[in-house]
Amino acid sequence: MSFFRVRTERLHQLQKLRPQFAEVYDFYGRLYSFLETEEGDWFSCRPDLQNWADRCQAGFPLLNGEALCIDEVPARGFLGRLIRQLAELGHEGQGDLDALHQALDDGSLNVGSLLKACLDRDRWAIVQASEKAEAQPAVLEFILSTTLSHFLQQGLSERFTPSSEGWQQGYCPVCGGVPVMAELSGEEGGKVLHCATCLTHWDATRLQCSYCGNEDTASLEYFTVEGETGYRVNICRKCSCYLKVIDTRELGEGLPMDVEDISTVHLDMLAQREGFTRGKRQAAV
Ligand SMILES: [Zn+2]
Ligand SMILES: [Zn+2]
Repeated sequence: MSFFRVRTERLHQLQKLRPQFAEVYDFYGRLYSFLETEEGDWFSCRPDLQNWADRCQAGFPLLNGEALCIDEVPARGFLGRLIRQLAELGHEGQGDLDALHQALDDGSLNVGSLLKACLDRDRWAIVQASEKAEAQPAVLEFILSTTLSHFLQQGLSERFTPSSEGWQQGYCPVCGGVPVMAELSGEEGGKVLHCATCLTHWDATRLQCSYCGNEDTASLEYFTVEGETGYRVNICRKCSCYLKVIDTRELGEGLPMDVEDISTVHLDMLAQREGFTRGKRQAAV
């Protein structure tokens, strides 16, 4: 089954399971239909594969902004089409989308450097560009992260298969993103972390906070929600972060974790209401 087919079929299943979120699932289903038609030969990565083992050992992810090669003119074309698509799909943020489209048209939005900033988590650069365009930073961040994820997801699996064996960090060995979902799988229920940006996954210690490394079981807990079999939320009282977990021994293997993430916003809301936040990258990379 194709990449997008897997995702749209899962969204259809979830729509039946949680009809109260039908609008969110419909939004992503239509966004996937748009992205499926976008090839992106203007986007490529040239990571430092030669020194990958050393970089991995030192806790540096494979990719950073420098590794991205972006052809500015077609990149602007893509962003313009994405913004128009979002304007058609959305009910909010129309003014911000118009402002960003205007900034693209007048050449004041440098797409290449902003995508690099997005990969490097240089939020300041994105906030500055948003202010200049008179748009909310969250809207520009969504556009940039959607673009980055789409092209990394399409390109990485074929171009690189970096080994993440021995990677002990709580962020992605390829793009440096924080894991958005963990999966418990296999007979022993081993923990695997999933990056939603580039879809890399890597093994992690089960009884340990993936963000701060805390192993004190007294401050590591989890909660479940009635009727949501196979889902739980791990919380760490030391760093006040949470991580959504899927038990694939109950739900079956091969679920697209990026879709599981966007379709479990209610779990995010419950954790955030209790004062927990999504994990952050701890190491200074
Ligand atoms: Zn990643
Ligand atoms: Zn922690």
